[in-house]
Amino acid sequence: MSTLDPQVAADLAPRSTDPLGVAIPSTVPTHWYNLNADFPEPLPPHLHPGTHEPLTPPDLAPLFPMALIMQEVTTERYVEIPQTVREIYAMWRPSPLVRAHRLERVLGTKAHLYYKYEGVSPAGSHKPNTAVAQAYYNAIEGTTKLTTETGAGQWGASLAMACALLGLTCEVWQVRASYDSKPYRRYQMETYGSICHPSPSDLTDAGRAILAEMPDTTGSLGMAISEAVEAAAKDPDAHYALGSVLNHVMLHQTVIGQEVLVQLAEAGEKQADVVFGCAGGGSNLGGLSFPLIGQNLREGTTTRAVACEPTACPSLTKGEYRYDFGDVAGLTPLLKMYTLGKDFVPAPIHAGGLRYHGMSPMISHAVNLGLMDAVAIEQDTAFAAGVVFARAEAIIPAPESTHAVAAALDYARTAADGEVIVIGLSGNGVLDLPSYAAYV
Ligand SMILES: *Cc1c(COP(=O)(O)O)cnc(C)c1O
Repeated sequence: MSTLDPQVAADLAPRSTDPLGVAIPSTVPTHWYNLNADFPEPLPPHLHPGTHEPLTPPDLAPLFPMALIMQEVTTERYVEIPQTVREIYAMWRPSPLVRAHRLERVLGTKAHLYYKYEGVSPAGSHKPNTAVAQAYYNAIEGTTKLTTETGAGQWGASLAMACALLGLTCEVWQVRASYDSKPYRRYQMETYGSICHPSPSDLTDAGRAILAEMPDTTGSLGMAISEAVEAAAKDPDAHYALGSVLNHVMLHQTVIGQEVLVQLAEAGEKQADVVFGCAGGGSNLGGLSFPLIGQNLREGTTTRAVACEPTACPSLTKGEYRYDFGDVAGLTPLLKMYTLGKDFVPAPIHAGGLRYHGMSPMISHAVNLGLMDAVAIEQDTAFAAGVVFARAEAIIPAPESTHAVAAALDYARTAADGEVIVIGLSGNGVLDLPSYAAYV
């Protein structure tokens, strides 16, 4: 499907953003938590790509709705979640925090091993937590179309889902390597009424320029971002949506960690001693860990957070902490982050969602301040851990999530009696089974 079927487009006529008035369980968070209120030193600002001066809200207005721009810069500790967004969250939230008893037995550990499972969302990952919020703020400010990029397709599928629920159309540029090897999420996007192109494509100046130079490239998130940003900037009815990295995305994902705080208390645990999350752009890890790190800073708990990245794309463990662009063409603001350089093209590893040259500025700031640690995991080690997890707990983790699983299993083997370990299980891997087949 290369254009939106007219019947599908008609079916996507604007849905109301008004609340339905349905009862929402009190366990669905009412506010997002903002670590920018509690960092001991302020986050370095994003810079204008032309002037290198700190960005001002109008600089971002061509791409984002004002509500999200204000969330990008706010230092308020809590931001209220709109009722319509909470109603959609309540379709799968709170997501389960599960004690991995069987895995504990397999490992022979005395630690208390938990996983927070974001694979229960309709799209199969944590990404709808921000997709729904972003689609909502765009819809209420009158935007009718969103453009975006996607790697393995989880973000594209999540935004497509959110756009279907809130009556927006959606156009997605998917990294060529994943477009070719993982068609099922494209079918998911198309079922929700979105259009998906392989990137680089000949539909944008950025894509054409890249293809002229590297006709056989397997693509990268940086290239796909350039294309989606350009498409939104040229269309007055369209805005752009980013699935990770930016501060407002980290903010939306904090429903994960806030639920964990409540769920651990309900399970009778004093605190999480260590949490492991995989890190591509940093959003599931930030969502899980920021509320816990905030509690460390305000209340003196001692939770340790560990970012788990692939050795094939080691931004935090091998990158430089400096200002860099978020995309290849240099269209985005300059972000202070750990980066491998905007032109870095990682090997086409199975964990497509972890193939990003940079890292969330908030995660980078936390690592730089010593509030978070980072490790790099080999792909084979990650898959081996994914298989151990699947055979013990039955859930097949997303290839991205297996990086957190691997680091946690390694830690659990020597952990102290009663130590509380939480794995961020960012998604399920049922649409990534060819990757498991390649490994097994
Ligand atoms: C996209 C994705 C990731 C990587 O993105 P982050 O922003 O680093 O969370 C990790 N896990 C899953 C399941 C994903 O879909």
